[in-house]
Amino acid sequence: MTQSRPCILYRDFPGDWRQRIRRTLVTALDRLESPEPLPVLFRADDIGVLSTNFLRLLDLFQHHQIPLCLAVVPTWLTRTRWTAINTHVDTSSTQWCWHQHGWSHTNHQATGKKCEFGSARSIRSLRDDLERGSNRLRDIMGRDFSPFFTPPWNRCSQETLALLSTLGFRGVSRSKGEQGRKAIIDDFYINVDLHTRKEADGGTALEALCDELGRAVGEHYVAIMIHHQLMSQSSFDLLDLLLSLVSQCGTLKVCTFNELPGSNMLSRLTGSS
Ligand SMILES: [Zn+2]
Repeated sequence: MTQSRPCILYRDFPGDWRQRIRRTLVTALDRLESPEPLPVLFRADDIGVLSTNFLRLLDLFQHHQIPLCLAVVPTWLTRTRWTAINTHVDTSSTQWCWHQHGWSHTNHQATGKKCEFGSARSIRSLRDDLERGSNRLRDIMGRDFSPFFTPPWNRCSQETLALLSTLGFRGVSRSKGEQGRKAIIDDFYINVDLHTRKEADGGTALEALCDELGRAVGEHYVAIMIHHQLMSQSSFDLLDLLLSLVSQCGTLKVCTFNELPGSNMLSRLTGSS
């Protein structure tokens, strides 16, 4: 990702954002009929390079003691960087789920939507990149690596899913709506986007974000995507509020991919097929 400007929501930040986020969650939770704990997942993408924002993100989750899945780009992570991360947090803690985010975050599609693991590539090259990616991360992170895959731009081909399954990955995480009918591998999809929103103004963006949050609670599965490179003070404020609300609510249970039930279980929970 080369873009670094926060999306319109945070550049045109509505003054009543706190009340609206709080009201959305409270109203959606009030409507729930199921007494079951509601799984919540946070996934941060484009990890590998140390920056002020990245360390601030780790500090925020550590402060709230809330689990986080981190999608690491294999070519961005070096031993030196991993050692530096390790001096900042205990990387072996179950609070963190360090997993794979592509190989080099490169688009290979000549036309259409951006994709690193898409239809433009041969099965051989897809396989090579998945294998060298997980080998590199295992080599650097050792047992702290969890075999899950977040494809860059939240999409990948059916062939990639089959390869992931063959190579022993335990799940994938794409956007909601990318799922086909045939689930080869568990998909812990994302249904709330905090930082790459495309609306035209802040008010509309906040409304759309609240809609996503409310719908996700209604689906009994909330999975929130984070892009720390795009975060500003306002984005940190909003995430801080969300983490506070989530940690205060006994109904919500934050997990990583490692503790989540598979998508078959999730589809039973959410009533979707
Ligand atoms: Zn990415």
